[in-house]
Amino acid sequence: MFHSRSHFRFAVVPVLLLAVCCLPASAGRAADEAAPDNATAWKAGAAKVVITPVEPMHMAGYAARTEPAEGKIHDLYIKALAVEDAKGTRLVMITSDLIGIPWDLRKWLEEQVQEKFGLPASGLLLNASHTHCGPEVRTTPTALYGLDPKRQERATAYVKTLQGKLLQLVEESLDDLAPARIDWCHARAGFAMNRRTLADGQYQNRPNPDGRLDHDVPVLRVTRPDGTLRAVLFGYACHNTTLGFQQFCGDYAGFAQAAIEEAHPGTVALFMMGCGGDQNPYPRRTLELAQTHGRTLATAVEAAIEATARPLNGPLKAAYETAKLEYQDHPTKAELEKMRDNATSGYDRLHAERLLFDLEQTGRVRSSYDAPIQVIRFSDQLVFVGLPGETVVDYSLRLKRELGRKKKEAAAAADAEEKSAAAERPVVWVAGYCNDVFAYIPSLRILQEGGYEGGGAMRYFSTVVQPGPFAPSVEERIVGKVHELNDRLRGEAVSESRTE
Ligand SMILES: [Zn+2]
Repeated sequence: MFHSRSHFRFAVVPVLLLAVCCLPASAGRAADEAAPDNATAWKAGAAKVVITPVEPMHMAGYAARTEPAEGKIHDLYIKALAVEDAKGTRLVMITSDLIGIPWDLRKWLEEQVQEKFGLPASGLLLNASHTHCGPEVRTTPTALYGLDPKRQERATAYVKTLQGKLLQLVEESLDDLAPARIDWCHARAGFAMNRRTLADGQYQNRPNPDGRLDHDVPVLRVTRPDGTLRAVLFGYACHNTTLGFQQFCGDYAGFAQAAIEEAHPGTVALFMMGCGGDQNPYPRRTLELAQTHGRTLATAVEAAIEATARPLNGPLKAAYETAKLEYQDHPTKAELEKMRDNATSGYDRLHAERLLFDLEQTGRVRSSYDAPIQVIRFSDQLVFVGLPGETVVDYSLRLKRELGRKKKEAAAAADAEEKSAAAERPVVWVAGYCNDVFAYIPSLRILQEGGYEGGGAMRYFSTVVQPGPFAPSVEERIVGKVHELNDRLRGEAVSESRTE
């Protein structure tokens, strides 16, 4: 017995040595979980383009700002990570130092990349970092409503430039496709805090250390065959609002990306905003704090890429569809006029005016909204969910619970088979602020609690004017669509493996 075991060991050692030697120093720990062959059968490419406005421009995020930006702290970027599996299925994930993604900008790019590069809608994802120190992105008549002609002109010209740069970005990332290895890893960072506090009978925007949160920092690590780092895509669920001053800046997410790129020359670091609709960075409001939070997040990413990684396999599967979200109220023209005339603040008046303007233009007050939902599967190992709007953290927590690995179930499993079935469920990455940032997306809990994210903020959205709070079905419509798409993609993978 002893003899045969030591013999076995002897034979295995050279193979292990070889495997370890081939791995990059930075990916050394990945050997903890042996890479199946097709973890290295990917192609990946990355690109980045500066989008800092050159003309004086107004900034996005705080309605109280009335003057254009006064210069910049650092440049703003759009960045892309392109991946292609062994069968040629492609995905381009775009991140941006922007407040949001307007639906028509996404639609325009979707049509362009379909036509020029044959990339289907499901293979394109756009995410906004939600920095409140970026340029305003106004694309629709309601978003431009009421502004002076000069500002309208500048905003429109900026969007035109941005479109050209987005197309250039996708092209550059696809041109850069080259053999790569993709791993998933994660760590934690603690500066996000729930910002909904019940005080005087109402939910108010204040730090709540006892509120729900998601401190996970999910990471896709992309390495070249020589082991060097090509790209790092990382996420965090926290409003990118340490700052609210008059200079262009990527806030904590901008500083985190810059720190990672500086530490790893030749790497593109991309920040993917999570379900941080009801989360804020604390403390906040100084440039030093934005730098500190950025450094904290970058350190978590460095920790993640040093830790045990999960080599990801193909096939890549993606689906992109809309979920119909209904509103509670459908005000009539007379009611809107009353809203306008009785408004107690400039914001309420402008909101009513925009709704009336929209009614005039389209002949209706919106009763529902088709919100895009995207699900991307890396084999059975990683499910990436791209949710629209300013998604609150409940969505991330719920979808991870419903779709993801069940550590407790695995521990309590009666037999080995049940144990491995529970442990082998995918890891789940839920991003908010994807593809169309048109409103806050409250969970049913937050909708019922009320407050800013529950419906109070609806009046500030102008790309699509929001008639009022969502109906109570909002959470089930979104989660239901995620399950539907995920089940379909799983089904496709199973039927494919059967026919092969
Ligand atoms: Zn926000």
